[in-house]
Amino acid sequence: MCRHLAYLGPPVTLASLVLDPDHSLYEQSWAPADMRGGGSVNADGFGLGWYPEGDVVVSGGPVRYRRNVPIWTDENLPGLAGSIRSGAVIAAIRNGTVNMPYGQAAVAPFVHGNWLFSHNGRIPGWPDSTLKLAERLPVADLLQLDASVDSALLWALITNRLTEGVPPADAVATVVQEVEAAAPGSRLNVLLTDGEQLIATTWTHSLHVHRTADSVTVSSEHFGPHQWTEVPDRSLLVATATTLHITPMEGQE
Ligand code: GLN
Repeated sequence: MCRHLAYLGPPVTLASLVLDPDHSLYEQSWAPADMRGGGSVNADGFGLGWYPEGDVVVSGGPVRYRRNVPIWTDENLPGLAGSIRSGAVIAAIRNGTVNMPYGQAAVAPFVHGNWLFSHNGRIPGWPDSTLKLAERLPVADLLQLDASVDSALLWALITNRLTEGVPPADAVATVVQEVEAAAPGSRLNVLLTDGEQLIATTWTHSLHVHRTADSVTVSSEHFGPHQWTEVPDRSLLVATATTLHITPMEGQE
């Protein structure tokens, strides 16, 4: 069931987060240790999203590199990831849910404006179970979904709240509760960042957090030599590089 990570802190290379450590996301693509809800490898694509450092001219917002191939097959990635540094990163590897489409557009991270988003999980009964929820979205949003995949709809529901001015943690928590109500048994571990703040949920999948004085890393599976703390199920995590709050979500069973 997909694996993902997010990092906020002093600039580091993408490789030091995603490729180099023991049991990195790279290794988790073929040897994940804690897949829940089915799946054995994460080979349906991968994505990296980051905020450029320093004097780099980009069109604004985060940069994303995503592909619909297993991460270990991309010969260009080590050089690329070893030469890019960022202080805010989301990375994901995909194990596509049965009956969901394959392709680059279905691979996290998803982008909207300055936001990056990733979803680890599934919405049971997709798409029928979500039709009522989708009704609140403008038709234009539905037509512009990246892919007809549960993660993209989840992201559209959250961006809809964000554009209404709902604070990001509230937007995420509300949508998770609504999706669970509409499709009980949903698996909804999400990551959301604007490069400054990080919102994450645990909703029936694993998530671990590692902190230093000036950084925070969250990851589906722990990697490298760091000290990790497991985030309890059904939690809302809100962090910056130097702050961390983990609270139980309403409706906890
Ligand atoms: N359901 C999502 C997809 O198909 C996420 C998959 C996952 O977490 N394994 O892309």
